[in-house]
Amino acid sequence: MLRRFRPYLRYLKSNRGTLIAAIGYGLLFGATNGLGLPMLIKYVFPVIFDQAAPHAMPMADVVLIAATVPMLFLLRAVSSFLNSYYTQLTGVRILEAVRLDYFRKLQVLPLSFLQRESSGDLLSRGIADSSQLQSTLSLIANDGVKQPMALLGALGFLIWQAFATDGALTVLVCLAIVPLAVLPVHYVGKKVVHRARQVQDQLGDVSAQLNENLAAAREVRAFGLEQRETERFGRATNLLIVAQMKVVKYAQALTPAIELISAFGIAATLIFAYYAGVKLETFLSIITALYLCYEPIKKLGYLNSEMNRGAASLQRLEYVLDQPLTITDPANPVPVTKLRGDIAFHGVNFAYGDSPALKGVNVVIPAGTVCALVGPSGAGKSTFANLVPRFYEAGAGAVTIDGTDVRAMKLADLRRNIALVSQEPVLFNDTIFNNLALGAAAPSREEIIAAARLAHAHEFIEQLPQGYDTMVGERGALLSGGQKQRIAIARAFLRHAPILILDEATSALDSDSEAAVQDALRRLVTGKTVLIIAHRFSTIRDASMILVFDKGEIVAQGDHTSLYAGNTLYKSLYDRQTGTT
Ligand code: ADP
Repeated sequence: MLRRFRPYLRYLKSNRGTLIAAIGYGLLFGATNGLGLPMLIKYVFPVIFDQAAPHAMPMADVVLIAATVPMLFLLRAVSSFLNSYYTQLTGVRILEAVRLDYFRKLQVLPLSFLQRESSGDLLSRGIADSSQLQSTLSLIANDGVKQPMALLGALGFLIWQAFATDGALTVLVCLAIVPLAVLPVHYVGKKVVHRARQVQDQLGDVSAQLNENLAAAREVRAFGLEQRETERFGRATNLLIVAQMKVVKYAQALTPAIELISAFGIAATLIFAYYAGVKLETFLSIITALYLCYEPIKKLGYLNSEMNRGAASLQRLEYVLDQPLTITDPANPVPVTKLRGDIAFHGVNFAYGDSPALKGVNVVIPAGTVCALVGPSGAGKSTFANLVPRFYEAGAGAVTIDGTDVRAMKLADLRRNIALVSQEPVLFNDTIFNNLALGAAAPSREEIIAAARLAHAHEFIEQLPQGYDTMVGERGALLSGGQKQRIAIARAFLRHAPILILDEATSALDSDSEAAVQDALRRLVTGKTVLIIAHRFSTIRDASMILVFDKGEIVAQGDHTSLYAGNTLYKSLYDRQTGTT
């Protein structure tokens, strides 16, 4: 079981100092506890009680003897505190490292993976499972060393007593019970793994539902789903509780089982002590040492079940951490600085899972072309556009820019040459200035303001209470749809990229915003190779090239006039648009 965690013990390495301090204080605690207490009972207390005549000892000696108790407990208290403190410190640092590794992985995973998984479950893995792994690792680091030492200390005392006093036989009999206590530990451990996995999975489910519900707050109210959603959530939390209680049942049965076994140990000791004529202090010190043996066994038992829980969480974390990175930099990348922007698709196939989304796509889009992608919903327009920045990887064929396969370029080089304006631009919960600054490497304030002016964003930003330093709220909640779009356009201006991918908004904006956005876009597309997933006839008509998509294929291409005359799908799409707008 311990081997399972070996690769992750590297997290302990960078915290070696705190860990060593934790273990050192732990050992001191173990020694004061496992050895100190029985020694007091056996050697120190009898000095007080075995006096032939009372009051024979000088008072100073009596006080000194009594003082050994608080002294021992002071040492025990301080070492216990420092041990816990440093253990926790190691723990939180491990947690930080595990979470960062997890987060780092999420940044580079292929989009297809993130779309397939539930984001609530991914959230739960990053929060709950990493936290479980942390408690397991710090427990291994701490109790894994401390408890065996405490056990050895107490056992050592027992063995020493066995040879030093008459009660040797008694002690050996008592010792025979110790290995028995390991049996329930082993049994419980096996039961816990499987159930712990269920708990973490269920926790993932609960958080997935919570997440989904929050994202659909409007729909819940609009469709009156409050009751249904609450019931659904109730069922998930209930399943979680059932799973949790199963773990509790096994974990909590452990202590009583061990105590019961120790009670038999004590009974056996009593019987043998009577016949062997063992003295009370020998008996008491042995019982104490024996009790102190069970304590570490119990803790090791707990450690064992914690390791099982940790293993379950580790499995869930590794599911993400070990996901293959399918979209990576090539071994010998073609050096790329500024691309010109000639895009070509050569026999490109692409499928999400088994269902093909693009079939044998061939097209050449010369640099500087404003190219509108049109077609019914689900025809493959977004998929087509997403292959250019390598958000997805072509299954067959190749996508080239300026004649170079996109897979031959470094991802960063490729993506630096592409600007993206999506249908619903996402803003980070930060100031407007910082949201704009994301567009380029390290833009100056002047550059940012210039871009905002080009995007018709400067005017409304100036009117905000803190201007460019206004916080935009989560996902830009404090801005209107049209304002968010203009921020996204300003960002794209700052990027100075030769290729622009534009996902046109379907929802209509108010006419002022609309005019501003359209004008900003007209400026933005000038001189760039542009792929527009177009929804408006005005955009489509102005495009210098139109690709008509249907069922994953480009069924026609040309300009508006020739397509309108020669392609029935295009004509019907266009007529439907103009008829309703
Ligand atoms: P469009 O942009 O023209 O509406 P898409 O490129 O989004 O079309 O989709 C093309 C096909 O691929 C559709 O059949 C769609 O259902 C499917 N598809 C799109 N995205 C995914 C995804 N993340 N997972 C599985 N199938 C998808």
